[in-house]
Amino acid sequence: MDQLTFLKDFETKGSTFSASYGAESGKSMLSLTTEEALLFSTDPVQVIANKCNVAISDYHNKVSEGYNAQCSANTAKGKRCKNIVSGGHMVSLEKWAELTGQYCEVHEQG
Ligand SMILES: [Zn+2]
Repeated sequence: MDQLTFLKDFETKGSTFSASYGAESGKSMLSLTTEEALLFSTDPVQVIANKCNVAISDYHNKVSEGYNAQCSANTAKGKRCKNIVSGGHMVSLEKWAELTGQYCEVHEQG
């Protein structure tokens, strides 16, 4: 029995699949189809990004920015501004993707 058949068998017996991932509020839950559950076992980020309608890079960037949408400007020293964009504190993955590329209060003026 291949893995998909195995999972489909689970499903016909009333089992459902869901996945949790680290999110701004601790954990977010996604319910998965059998096919998504199978993909999740090998490539969880792909499944999370698909379900939230964002790019895989958005997911990785969001995690590295600590769930805050960071300003896109560079400082005078050429480093990425560490300020958070307005409304960008501890946001969901969808919201993060929407806010990415924006600027903090300091940089949105210029
Ligand atoms: Zn800034």
